[in-house]
Amino acid sequence: MGDEQIDAAALQSWLRAFARSVAEHKATLTALDAEIGDADHGANMDRGMTAVVAELDATEPGTTPAALLKKAGMTLVRTVGGASGPLYGTLFLRMAPAAGTADSVDAGTFAKALGAGVEGVVARGKAELEDKTMIDALTPAVEALEAGLAAGDSLQEALRAASAAADAGRDATIPLVARKGRASYLGERSIGHQDPGATSAALLVAAAASTLGVVVGG
Ligand code: ADP
Ligand code: MG
Repeated sequence: MGDEQIDAAALQSWLRAFARSVAEHKATLTALDAEIGDADHGANMDRGMTAVVAELDATEPGTTPAALLKKAGMTLVRTVGGASGPLYGTLFLRMAPAAGTADSVDAGTFAKALGAGVEGVVARGKAELEDKTMIDALTPAVEALEAGLAAGDSLQEALRAASAAADAGRDATIPLVARKGRASYLGERSIGHQDPGATSAALLVAAAASTLGVVVGG
């Protein structure tokens, strides 16, 4: 534990896995958004992550984790029209400075960076917990990741716990009344529907759990 390093290649694996997962779940994300929004969340995320993958394919060798995160964030802001584009874009853009200038970051730094990214989403979208948004999956995930690492778990174990927490947060959006974004226009009629953004956010954390946590040079 404590010796896992996340380099640019690992981050690429994470983003590519998220892109594949979004493509795979595109119809589900859109169907959820059809219930309480405007039926474009799957298309929005798929367009954005396809553009991110194209940027990754064109990335120079030697690109730092921070530069990669910045590029991903800018690409999402540029290519996704919906609320989710600037919000996911902000997540990655705010992760970048926390990653510093090094060629790789350790588990604790990655957790801090993810925490900074989620704080950025909160600052931008002004959503609180239980407003029925992506924050309901992201915030418990960061908390579980930090708690796991603090308890001495490996990055892999801590990310698995984070993914389980994100899934639980996603499921917990179902009975909530939406208080942010388009779904909030429905008021009480948003009850009984799973939030699309919390669903894609849980896929992001699951992709991290399945790709990060490799020990480099250990
Ligand atoms: P749009 O609502 O513009 O059509 P999307 O359908 O792509 O954009 O994304 C909708 C998702 O964005 C929601 O399910 C919710 O999770 C998230 N979202 C909307 N507004 C906010 C906000 N202010 N803060 C955090 N997340 C938000
Ligand atoms: Mg939508």
